Amino acid sequence: MCIPTLAKLSAVTENTYDLLLKGGRVIDPRNGVDGVFDVAIKAGRIAAVEGAIDAATAEQVRDVADKIVCPGLIDLHTHVYDKATPLGVDPGRVSRRSVVSTLVDAGSAGAGNFAGLRDYVIAPAPVRILAFLNISFPGIFAFGPTLMYGEARIPELLVPELCAKVIEANRDLLVGVKVRMGEVTSGALGMKALDLAIEAAELAGVPLMTHIGSPPPTYDEILARMRPGDILTHCFRPEPNAPIAETGGVLDALVTARERGVLFDIGHGAGAFHFRSAEQAIGSGFPPDIISSDVHTLSINGPAFDLLHTMSKLVNCGIALPDAVAMATDAPARAMRRPDLGQLGVGAVADISVVGEIERDYDFRDVRGETRAGKMLLEPDVLIVGGTIIEADARPFEIVEKEN
Ligand SMILES: [Zn+2]
Repeated sequence: MCIPTLAKLSAVTENTYDLLLKGGRVIDPRNGVDGVFDVAIKAGRIAAVEGAIDAATAEQVRDVADKIVCPGLIDLHTHVYDKATPLGVDPGRVSRRSVVSTLVDAGSAGAGNFAGLRDYVIAPAPVRILAFLNISFPGIFAFGPTLMYGEARIPELLVPELCAKVIEANRDLLVGVKVRMGEVTSGALGMKALDLAIEAAELAGVPLMTHIGSPPPTYDEILARMRPGDILTHCFRPEPNAPIAETGGVLDALVTARERGVLFDIGHGAGAFHFRSAEQAIGSGFPPDIISSDVHTLSINGPAFDLLHTMSKLVNCGIALPDAVAMATDAPARAMRRPDLGQLGVGAVADISVVGEIERDYDFRDVRGETRAGKMLLEPDVLIVGGTIIEADARPFEIVEKEN
């Protein structure tokens, strides 16, 4: 048996940090921090955020000068039920490419198959994965380039009690209910699908994320039913059902819903981000609350790509960088009632995204193929999840696109 001597013990407890990120621009909107600081990590938690921390106090030092150091990015709308659902993508690859520490699956699974998402995807993943549970029992089961059949069209599959029961049993992972409203997804069932999803959310005491597609129902009809704290995703979609008013600005329904506490999420995806909607909304003082990618098999190679690319696009649409960071850290954490995430306060879990800001001419593209010339791209540098370093896969998006 080896008994440590007093000298050895004191050396161990001399409070060396495990990791020190030195000299980056720390943007932590929750705590009102935006400036050059060092960030120290100990035992998987944030131990200090200070002007200058002695490098000798850390076991490992990483120079992040000229990089942005922000709370671990949270992508509130993803589809990562890889291989089990046709729209699922590899969570490890997506998170490395976009330095996202928390992927939130938006309704790929329902009550009937959440156990597979939990045991085969979430458990072995290198990053945190949380989820909204689809109100429809099988989740999103028919989604492909040539075949789309909405899971919210069939009333027999939408059983609030079954949805709420699975949420109750998995409160550590399930943060809300998801429903996809629109001509294709909810079909003739229409507003009844939304009512059943709200019923499930009420039973479980969680927020509802509602997808908006082509009408019916209309943007106004959907928003009228949504409750404070519920999330409308695909908020800046194109016509039909765009958020913009003919007279300029956004529809009155958006303004009144925001006043009531409804949250507006980008959910870019393959069909739900239009420059004209975004520009008119942002230009009239209606920015989104949350930026998310809606990354899935049909959007991962563009035009959404991933969260970092979607954030770059929104910055090029006029959102200030610190606000874009808030919309992908603090705001989604609060929306899913996980205020422990999305921040770098001392004692918080050490989820950190380190991002480069590069100047480059780049043509951003929306879901209708329209382009806008941009000058800035955010690029992945390194991801830290619970104090563990996960090196980014920084291949440029164009190369990834060609490989697939
Ligand atoms: Zn989606």
